[in-house]
Amino acid sequence: MSTFTQVIAALKQAKRILIGSHYNPDGDALGSAAALGIALERQGKKVTFFNRDPVPFNLTFLPHADRFVRTLPKDASFDTVVIVDCNAAKRVGGDFEKAIKGTRVICIDHHQLEKTEGDLTILEPDAAATGVLIMRFLEEAKIPLDRILATCLFCAITVDTGSFRYSNATPDVFLLGAKLVKAGADPYEISKALEENYPAKRYRLLAKSLATLQVDEQLGIASIDVTQQMFKETGTGPDLTEEFSSFPRSIRGVEVALFFRELPDGRLKVSMRSKGHVDVAKIAAGFGGGGHVHAAGCTFEGDAAIARKKLYAALAAAIGKKGT
Ligand code: AMP
Ligand code: MN
Ligand code: MN
Repeated sequence: MSTFTQVIAALKQAKRILIGSHYNPDGDALGSAAALGIALERQGKKVTFFNRDPVPFNLTFLPHADRFVRTLPKDASFDTVVIVDCNAAKRVGGDFEKAIKGTRVICIDHHQLEKTEGDLTILEPDAAATGVLIMRFLEEAKIPLDRILATCLFCAITVDTGSFRYSNATPDVFLLGAKLVKAGADPYEISKALEENYPAKRYRLLAKSLATLQVDEQLGIASIDVTQQMFKETGTGPDLTEEFSSFPRSIRGVEVALFFRELPDGRLKVSMRSKGHVDVAKIAAGFGGGGHVHAAGCTFEGDAAIARKKLYAALAAAIGKKGT
């Protein structure tokens, strides 16, 4: 593990910086990347913001959202790369993996169980969001907060703490939130942009997805599905499925909520949310994925029906009960 002092020193030397965050980006991935990149540009650095996937509809309000590129020119060259909100180049994906060969890699992240690929790594699984770590970086680098940086970081922390509601919403997180609001972040504007700005078709998709609800009362597992057919029928895409897992999660007696999404190639991706003691990061890691104790994900290779069975068996073992 590295210190912020080491990371600050490395970035001071850098001239052309590439910042990447995980595909299927969320508010922490993009908010953290945007805040870090904007701050570094103010230090005179040339910054490229990369994400393999489009900026989700409800995150287009982020300052500099239009600066994220999804591809990189073949001859693009960088002297330093920063990976935020994940710690492996394969989680960033796309052109990023090739572009970073031979460059110095810095990771700033709060996930567990993944092996880091950084030459310098700040990995704090106890941090509520990567945005918390970026705030600490700014403070140690003596880069003052303003409305733009505060908006990006408030978004990052809001998204990863479920609007300051989850078990990671510690007193310190509230203090950081207060600091960001003082610096100009507007909680209502940000929450309106995040949660009260969806196109109607998201709800047409949600209606179809909710119709697939399955509840295993014995195990305390509830799941919903989204298929490619549903995307087609509603003219939507995965960027409108953000937070779908909160619906099975909100059912009484549910310990683990699952949101299954069919990928274009037929493979199955699952988002898992644990409300209690079940460590879903560990279960996701068993299927080649990862995440946090209470929120994790993975993509299954091979037959989807078999994958589901295997997942339920792993969950039943972790829950310590037999399913229905
Ligand atoms: P999701 O279920 O995609 O909303 O992700 C929940 C959490 O798990 C997020 O912090 C993700 O970054 C992480 N996560 C999801 N999929 C993976 C994966 N395949 N490998 C590692 N972490 C993941
Ligand atoms: Mn994330
Ligand atoms: Mn995060």
